[in-house]
Amino acid sequence: MKAIQVKQTGGPEVLRLVDIPILQPKPNEAVVKIAAAGVNFIDTYQREGRYKVPLPFVIGQEAAGTVSSVGAEVETLKPGDRVAWTGILGTYAEYAAAPTDRLVAVPQGVSDQQAAAAMLQGMTAHYLLYGAFPLQRGQTALVHAAAGGVGLLLVQMAHNIGARVIGTVSTEEKAKPAREAGADEVILYTQADFETETRRLTGGKGVDVVYDGVGKTTFEKGLNVLRPRGYMVLFGGSSGAVPPLDLIQLSTKGSLFVTRPTLGHYIATREELQARSSAVFGMIAQGKLKLRIEHTYKLADAQQAHRDLEGRKTTGKLILLP
Ligand code: NDP
Repeated sequence: MKAIQVKQTGGPEVLRLVDIPILQPKPNEAVVKIAAAGVNFIDTYQREGRYKVPLPFVIGQEAAGTVSSVGAEVETLKPGDRVAWTGILGTYAEYAAAPTDRLVAVPQGVSDQQAAAAMLQGMTAHYLLYGAFPLQRGQTALVHAAAGGVGLLLVQMAHNIGARVIGTVSTEEKAKPAREAGADEVILYTQADFETETRRLTGGKGVDVVYDGVGKTTFEKGLNVLRPRGYMVLFGGSSGAVPPLDLIQLSTKGSLFVTRPTLGHYIATREELQARSSAVFGMIAQGKLKLRIEHTYKLADAQQAHRDLEGRKTTGKLILLP
């Protein structure tokens, strides 16, 4: 089968198309023929070596497809079933193996591409808004990179909750989808100082929560726009890692809270994985959550997908089609 392998960490050029044998399922696993694989920023961290993965490895950790074979102990799935998953490496490939307790059934009304687009970014938006800081109707949230993959989903879900959403984006082209997703205000943080703008837009009060996946260039100012006892939810670093924080700042800036969550801890049990994925699939099937799959690439073009994502050229979701 064809797969994208990383033999040494580095830039997009280390993503190599290789031919390797199709995996055989372990007793508790299913092997899935992948119809669509999601491209996520975490893939770039693993490719670079910022997040350590033993080498060599087949990159990617989000996909949807059809079960092609199952291990000897598997009773819950059979060949032909449609499934999706996240959090298991090996999805930039024609086939991948995964333990069946990490696979969820894809309901009718949700396509393979939608399922692949929803598993990592959709469940992330869901746990950030319903778990990490449960956002309430009437509260105000600042969402950075609001036109990105997670960003557009965060904006829509926060809007549906009834919160006021202030989004940041780098360009006017990205402001449009962010507004369409439900952002009440959009700040071009490459042109205006988002700290000043956010203070102005909130009448000096500050926001209840900042959802920050950008990190290095936004974190510190983000602390300055929180209301007293507000929440900083730092969930990524697309601009780079945030340097160590002197905790006294949380006191002087208003008895603030900071959390640095990761999806794995919010889908750790089978029950939570099922509940969260069902909630997201339900929103998609009911038309409450629109997935903007604007960039599809052949498996062989994975390098280009990474260049586009890291080059801030994309909005919404990037998908590889093996
Ligand atoms: P995005 O589609 O959001 O792409 C990243 C965006 O970050 C860019 O489009 C860009 O938007 C913005 N950005 C700002 N500065 C830079 C920079 N210097 N270089 C590149 N991009 C920059 O990616 P994802 O939706 O896949 O991921 C968003 C974030 O969420 C990532 O940090 C990712 O690691 C994190 N994440 C965390 C999870 C968790 O559980 N903790 C799970 C899933 C994702 P603009 O041009 O508008 O500035």
